[in-house]
Amino acid sequence: MNTPHVVIIGAGFGGLNAARHLAKAPVQITLINKQNYHLFQPLLYQVAIAGLLPSQIAYPLRTILRKQKNIDFQMGEVTAIDFNARYVRLNGSVIAYDYLVIAVGAETNFFGMQTVQQNGFQVKDVDSAVLTRNHLLNLFEQASREVDPEKRRAMLTFVVVGGGPTGVETAGALAELISQVMVKDYPALELSDARVVLLESNDHLITAYPHELRHATFELLHRKHVDILLGAGLAEYNGAVVTLDDGRQIPSQTLIWTAGVRAAPVLDSLGVEQAGAGRVKVLPTLQLPQHPEVFVLGDAAYLADEKGQPLPMLSTVAIQQGKSTAQNIQRLIHGKSLKPFHYMDPGLLATIGRNAAVARIAGISFSGFIAWVIWVFLHIYRLIGFRNRLLVFINWAWDYIFYENQVRLITKE
Ligand SMILES: Cc1cc2nc3c(=O)[nH]c(=O)nc-3n(C[C@H](O)[C@H](O)[C@H](O)COP(=O)(O)OP(=O)(O)OC[C@H]3O[C@@H](n4cnc5c(N)ncnc54)[C@H](O)[C@@H]3O)c2cc1C
Repeated sequence: MNTPHVVIIGAGFGGLNAARHLAKAPVQITLINKQNYHLFQPLLYQVAIAGLLPSQIAYPLRTILRKQKNIDFQMGEVTAIDFNARYVRLNGSVIAYDYLVIAVGAETNFFGMQTVQQNGFQVKDVDSAVLTRNHLLNLFEQASREVDPEKRRAMLTFVVVGGGPTGVETAGALAELISQVMVKDYPALELSDARVVLLESNDHLITAYPHELRHATFELLHRKHVDILLGAGLAEYNGAVVTLDDGRQIPSQTLIWTAGVRAAPVLDSLGVEQAGAGRVKVLPTLQLPQHPEVFVLGDAAYLADEKGQPLPMLSTVAIQQGKSTAQNIQRLIHGKSLKPFHYMDPGLLATIGRNAAVARIAGISFSGFIAWVIWVFLHIYRLIGFRNRLLVFINWAWDYIFYENQVRLITKE
């Protein structure tokens, strides 16, 4: 009767890890998520470029939680939270809590560019990744029967916006899809017309990485024939022509936007202090200043590190914060003082395609084949479920040996 009730909103990296670390705690948990699965977002771009199936990077939550006795899962979208009355609104009713964990993640930020939002593609969830895949594959079909060379070139020009890790990974994988796979599927198509353009408004790619890795990334993409336009701000996209700040125009039927995220919209209605990208300002213990029973974590939370830099929106941050929150909730229950969160940075890693990745681990920067092997095995290891690990491994091994992306299916969304 007196078991404290912990409500966790969001079953991404942060929320799911908080739930799992509370498995043996004297609490009853309700975990709420919009979808009935946990999604491994770092591999979403592989779904968009026809490399993996959504089911290989997502895992049903009820299966993950089957053995955990103190948890109840509810699928749905929390639309409101009342901090004073201590309840959340879900599916037309309310759920009361003693402790609340808000781990709702982020959504794509188009920075108010409506034409880009309307006509561009994004890689943020399963639906948007599958939509992008279908669009890309459809364009090759259309291009194969297009007689006008100008129109064909526009169909085969793929513009990726954002030179961060996701943009770099997407551009590299797209260039390989064309040069290694589509070239075999469309022997009659002049694929020298095909072009992958990477736009970055800064003067360098992957800003958060050290200079030598930025340089290595540039070189690796260049070798894959990706056109990299640095200092190139996007002005608008009407679905047919990409217009840059300086007036330059690129005819293209595809713009993939990877240049920004902002915290999930439900946070805007809470009346709490927000920082850049809509993230909620939290105490070092990840609690809300006015409501010590409420924790916010992962992409949704804004917390600066020892150097005053905001913690990055990364799965590694969310995972560690999930564990820290579970431990702090138990300390609260037992009347102990809480511990502030300290991020243990495991390093940086991004892949640029076959045999090509950049890494910084334990202060050492390296790139190329070794970095790529580490990337492959780390991502397989981090996937949930033995079946998914095996399937992704087989898929990648097959692609590696036979130069095939196996999911070249155009489906109805
Ligand atoms: C394409 C892509 C590539 C990335 N690559 C990397 C990478 O290589 N390495 C890395 O470390 N990080 C990467 N990231 C970032 C990483 O995925 C995020 O930092 C991480 O997912 C944040 O975890 P989270 O728990 O805060 O949120 P999420 O994992 O986003 O989980 C939030 C969950 O909350 C649910 N939700 C949202 N609102 C509500 C609501 N109102 N009610 C109920 N449920 C709700 C969502 O549906 C979602 O399931 C990538 C992200 C993307 C999009």
